Amino acid sequence: MDTSEPQPTAAPPTTAPPTTAPLHGEPLPVELMNTVWAGRDGVHDALGDTADLAAWLRAVEPRLPDGLGARSEAGTGDQAGTGRRARPSPGRPDALSASAGLPGLLAEFRRLRDALRRLAAEATADDRPAAHAANGRLDLPAAVAHLNEACGFAPASSYLVWSPDGGGAALRGLHSPYPAAAAALSVVAEQGVALFAGEGRAQLGACHAPGCVLYFLRTPPRRAWCSAACGNRARVARHYHRHHDPRPHGR
Ligand SMILES: [Zn+2]
Repeated sequence: MDTSEPQPTAAPPTTAPPTTAPLHGEPLPVELMNTVWAGRDGVHDALGDTADLAAWLRAVEPRLPDGLGARSEAGTGDQAGTGRRARPSPGRPDALSASAGLPGLLAEFRRLRDALRRLAAEATADDRPAAHAANGRLDLPAAVAHLNEACGFAPASSYLVWSPDGGGAALRGLHSPYPAAAAALSVVAEQGVALFAGEGRAQLGACHAPGCVLYFLRTPPRRAWCSAACGNRARVARHYHRHHDPRPHGR
């Protein structure tokens, strides 16, 4: 083989693997809860390592407030029209998934996730064995403390971007002196507090399709499953039991 010319090496992947977490368009605290999910082969953790966290952050980045991440650098500091000096920052705002300290943040995101799941289990009187097994042994006061600590972990402040010509919508952005992913953790925690302190607590539901460990918001109120796929699986299971369970069904 002629090796006189440099052989093209395998190109680095242009697209990193997507998150394995099911994203159902729920509020971000619920999406974070659902990074624990179940398949035919049992319960999975979509935040198993730093690459997993980067993938999840890439997936939810468009839903985070403007100002977190490289896409909106122009919207931060003085350029946001605040007239104030930009807050001291350890570095330029960075892309969420490439954010400084991502390895150190993995444990923080998992801790917040576990706290949110514990509170969701309480709010929904969740009696699903698989969910209980996945949720671990975190007690309620610890879950509340973890959530509250996450709010203050890397706080951000709002800024308003006024549409220059007055015709477009004004925009709420956030800037933070902390790395984008750390600020994102606190944003999700803040939304978690708002969820449990508001109407979301009563709307929260646990999906009781066979084996499912996910949560969802009952919007509309009659919504019974986290996804259409779970609704179908539950119907199939009901049909099976109706034809194989010898006990009378009472109707
Ligand atoms: Zn489900």
